[in-house]
Amino acid sequence: MAEEDDIFPTGLGVAEARALIVSIAQAHCLLAENIPLASALGRILATDAIAPHDVPGFANSAMDGFALRGADLQSAGEKCFRLIGEILAGGKGAPMVEADACVRITTGAPIPPGADTVVMKENTRMEAARIEGDRVVVMPGTAPAANVRPAGEDYRAGDIALRRGRRLGAAQLGVLASFGVTAVSVVRRPRVVLLTTGDELVAPGKPLGFGQIHDSNRYSLGCLLESLGVEFVRHERVRDDPAALRDALQRAGADADLIVSSGGVSAGEADFMPRLVAEIGKVHFWKVRLKPGMPFLFGQIGAAMLFALPGNPVSGFATCMALVKPALDAMRGASQKGFMLRARLRSAINKRHARAEFQRAKLECDENAVLWATPHPKQGSGMLRGVAEADAMILLPEGEREFAIGEAVEVMPLPGWPA
Ligand code: AMP
Ligand code: MG
Repeated sequence: MAEEDDIFPTGLGVAEARALIVSIAQAHCLLAENIPLASALGRILATDAIAPHDVPGFANSAMDGFALRGADLQSAGEKCFRLIGEILAGGKGAPMVEADACVRITTGAPIPPGADTVVMKENTRMEAARIEGDRVVVMPGTAPAANVRPAGEDYRAGDIALRRGRRLGAAQLGVLASFGVTAVSVVRRPRVVLLTTGDELVAPGKPLGFGQIHDSNRYSLGCLLESLGVEFVRHERVRDDPAALRDALQRAGADADLIVSSGGVSAGEADFMPRLVAEIGKVHFWKVRLKPGMPFLFGQIGAAMLFALPGNPVSGFATCMALVKPALDAMRGASQKGFMLRARLRSAINKRHARAEFQRAKLECDENAVLWATPHPKQGSGMLRGVAEADAMILLPEGEREFAIGEAVEVMPLPGWPA
């Protein structure tokens, strides 16, 4: 170990490691592509979206009722208005509204010329009014200009509606559709090759021999990456054999923007990753002062950034969230905001080591709007159950100490929280 420590820069703090990763990932920024709106869910906007016209495009009614002139309304007592026509949403023009006249109108229909106010149907009595010339009795209580949605009240033509780097969810896609847009410029998805390494690994579905385990990282890491919006180039299971690993890394370096590997990155007999990366690529750093996830290595193979995660399922998951996700966001020009929240501890934690630590935890918000984190009983780095049953990972800062009940700590929500 001491020997490797001399060769590679080692033992970065988590924040330092993340900052270095982000700065390198920013230099790997991805190009834009134009895609149909219908397939843009979850993608990252490559350029600011500008409103091409006012939304709404015309003043319209917020209610079903009667359009009239606000100046004609009385502050007290009922008043009769002459019904001179109607306009329904999507309908053609309506007559000019003159003094003491009104036009029947439905929600979304353009305000007729001359009118500036809509009285809700519920605040009127129609003396059997159906046709032009009939009387509509308006009850008091409607203010001039009420129930009118002016043109551009949501977006003004020229407004920056969505900033580049914004993830496109349902509402953002709805906004673009309201602009009449059918295609959108988004950042190309990062292409990922996932390598799971280990002689003990067997694909789910195959029987287990002595000492073998199912390759769960292929799913936990693979699906985590997919949920973070990557494009999977391929997954390969690689034996603990330097030649096989070298071959897989070199091919991945030619095909991927990002290589994510699991296993073989510690100091064991079959951990070939660090020396191999130093030989065929570059090691930016190896080891983070973090538990679990200490052996994490960040490097470069060909054009691809390499994130070599430890094999332990929880270590891999935690470092993927904490150190790979920020790189994905940086490459896409996406915001790093909202990465960590703060919550209070439901139970005390006595931390007996110097490294920072991720603890699996449930989150719950109480009636006083305080967010609480309850550590999960299963904290082993091989126990994926703790992650499967958690909402977040608590990040305890470096240093040996006791964390008291109620103490505020940083938490990293897991994808899917809140459900
Ligand atoms: P390593 O980092 O290769 O030393 O592996 C650490 C631990 O993680 C060992 O117990 C491995 O068996 C386990 N492990 C490695 N790869 C995987 C995987 N793909 N799925 C599940 N467990 C794994
Ligand atoms: Mg291994």
